[in-house]
Amino acid sequence: MDSTEKKRNFSRKREAILKAVRSTKCHPTAEWVYRTLKPDYPDLSLGTVYRNLAQFKNDGTIVSVGTINGQERYDGNVTPHTHFVCSSCGAVIDIPGRLIDEAQVEKTAEEMHLRVDSWDVLMHGICAKCLHGK
Ligand SMILES: [Zn+2]
Ligand SMILES: [Zn+2]
Repeated sequence: MDSTEKKRNFSRKREAILKAVRSTKCHPTAEWVYRTLKPDYPDLSLGTVYRNLAQFKNDGTIVSVGTINGQERYDGNVTPHTHFVCSSCGAVIDIPGRLIDEAQVEKTAEEMHLRVDSWDVLMHGICAKCLHGK
């Protein structure tokens, strides 16, 4: 494989990783992305997936929901929204809107003498599926 071909192969994987994260609402882990793409990209390594996800996160292409049950969860939806995390099954569910308004954040920042760059709300509890079995 010459270097241009190597590069093409590299960006093809990079695109596939981004597409996989954007294609799902499950807020995937690196391992989920790896397992999803592996059949189509047999030479893909978990390290490559981790590296690319970290890069996408750093440049704001995707966001991190945080570490849940020891694994970082990613979101291809970068518009501000709230997350609900099920402490039983680990499901991450999107809730539209931010639930706290900008004015409240600004007021708190002023009172506490903070500079707030970004903020989000994370709810914890038991999801409908775990609560009601559906
Ligand atoms: Zn659940
Ligand atoms: Zn989300």
